Amino acid sequence: MALVPMKQILEEARKKGYGVGAYNVNNMEQIQAIMAAAQKTKSPVVIQASRGALKYSNFIYLKHLMQAAVEENPDIPIAMHLDHGNSLESCKKAISLGFSSVMIDGSLKEDGKTPSDYEYNVNVTRSVVEYAHAYGVTVEGEIGRLGGIEDGVGSGSVHVTDPDEAKKFVEATGLDALAIAIGTSHGAYKFKGDKHLAFDVLEKVRKLIDIPIVLHGASSVPQELIDKVNKYGGKMPGATGVPMEHLKKAIKLGVTKINVDTDGRLAVTGAIREVFANSPDKFDPRDYLGPARDQLAGLITKKMQDFGTAGHSGDYKPIGLEEMKRAYKK
Ligand SMILES: [Zn+2]
Repeated sequence: MALVPMKQILEEARKKGYGVGAYNVNNMEQIQAIMAAAQKTKSPVVIQASRGALKYSNFIYLKHLMQAAVEENPDIPIAMHLDHGNSLESCKKAISLGFSSVMIDGSLKEDGKTPSDYEYNVNVTRSVVEYAHAYGVTVEGEIGRLGGIEDGVGSGSVHVTDPDEAKKFVEATGLDALAIAIGTSHGAYKFKGDKHLAFDVLEKVRKLIDIPIVLHGASSVPQELIDKVNKYGGKMPGATGVPMEHLKKAIKLGVTKINVDTDGRLAVTGAIREVFANSPDKFDPRDYLGPARDQLAGLITKKMQDFGTAGHSGDYKPIGLEEMKRAYKK
């Protein structure tokens, strides 16, 4: 099986009303952990890499790791997705590496920091849609602005999505999935007080558009992961995330793709710190990367169960990019 267009994975999930986690990766252990969880729970999966992750891996390493995941798991629908592409060029690069999906984040200018205006967002998103669809590749866009900064992406300001603008945006761009801002933010410090999400905005958007909705900045930052990091020498006081109950409600109200990066980072860091604190004599990277991989697989297994993805890997016949390409032409 080749990589599956993300559009198919999300639309199949939407039909049945479950959520699909999109998990960020930089290296082999993370990809193995995600695939172990997908195998264990029989879940379709979106693996995503940021521009920073691609650069970190010299592009070519992630390309081959993703191919290895596909080769090793022919029974699991896998989409490989570029997270927060900042320009047509960065999306073209991901497509040339074989990614089956790209995000163009036109809510920010190309520097990934400066807020853009609506016209800019429409124009850059439409250019990516035209290019990507010719290859059968899925496009995710964003309207409204998330808070927080991660991997150097983010303006630091929040702008909750305007539902009417979201509708206009979908019609003007022809994109396949839409990230909206309802109060989540990137990073490990998502809320200062009340963990408030604008579910009313989500409901309005859901009624107005007919494509899958994406929630960024949706890690839960579980207290036990923070406690572990802090117990073994870390310093992350006051870290907070989106409670799983909120995410389950968001899925029920129509969110399909849930982005998870921070929680994976915490699981890996906690596991490694624990090994170093308890066994200062260890110096073989496998002795700490192995436990980190196991921790991450456990975390993602739980998420796949909570999001409702578990058990759905064999529900449909995955299509390749060629077939998707023909579908776009119609
Ligand atoms: Zn994001």
